[in-house]
Amino acid sequence: MSKTQELFREDSYAKSCEAEVLGINDLGGIILDRTVFYPSGGGQPGDTGSLKRADGSQIQISTTVHESDRRTIVHVPAEGSAVLEIGEKVQCVLDWDERYAHMRVHTALHLLCAALPYPVTGGSIGNGKGRLDFDIPDAGLDKDALSEELNKLISQDLPVSISWITDEELETQPELVRTMAVKPPMGIGKVRMIAVGDVDLQPCGGTHVANTREIGTAQVSKIENKGAHNRRVRIVLS
Ligand SMILES: [Zn+2]
Repeated sequence: MSKTQELFREDSYAKSCEAEVLGINDLGGIILDRTVFYPSGGGQPGDTGSLKRADGSQIQISTTVHESDRRTIVHVPAEGSAVLEIGEKVQCVLDWDERYAHMRVHTALHLLCAALPYPVTGGSIGNGKGRLDFDIPDAGLDKDALSEELNKLISQDLPVSISWITDEELETQPELVRTMAVKPPMGIGKVRMIAVGDVDLQPCGGTHVANTREIGTAQVSKIENKGAHNRRVRIVLS
């Protein structure tokens, strides 16, 4: 099965696209030639939405995942959905409100990385909220001070930009890799780098807003102690 063209990598604001059904996997998952649906990964949930058929009927997509080859994207239909034909043309339509909420939280977490310059050991993105786990030996983090720092960064209207470097370039600059738990997606020869103004630069395959002003107001809702070296920082957007 050939690799799915990932339209969301270059344009995270693409809400729909025309596509052709290339295959249906053993579990009923739908493989298209191109898609705007982000597959679950890097702490960001897989997109939901629908596939519209030529006759006007719709297949609801309950989540999106990667095939084990990490190159093919699988759209998981809601249980009981009609089965699409190979070669059929469909229109992919994202559940945009949910995806945009993920984009805002995801970008806010990059700024949290900028505010807390420590190794990241894990993270999760939800609808309007998210968290990162940091390897920080000492406690003493202040929720309110961190919220203030975060909102100061957001209010600078920082642009988010995409660039690509080679696997070799990344290997010679290991300091660019912030997330110890999630290895950057290497193996295709190049790695996508995300810059938020000049405050954060790291390899990332997720979807982001174009400017930090779109995040709105962020609040650090909780800082939890998850072991001697692990602080879990939760944020909520309003
Ligand atoms: Zn990211």
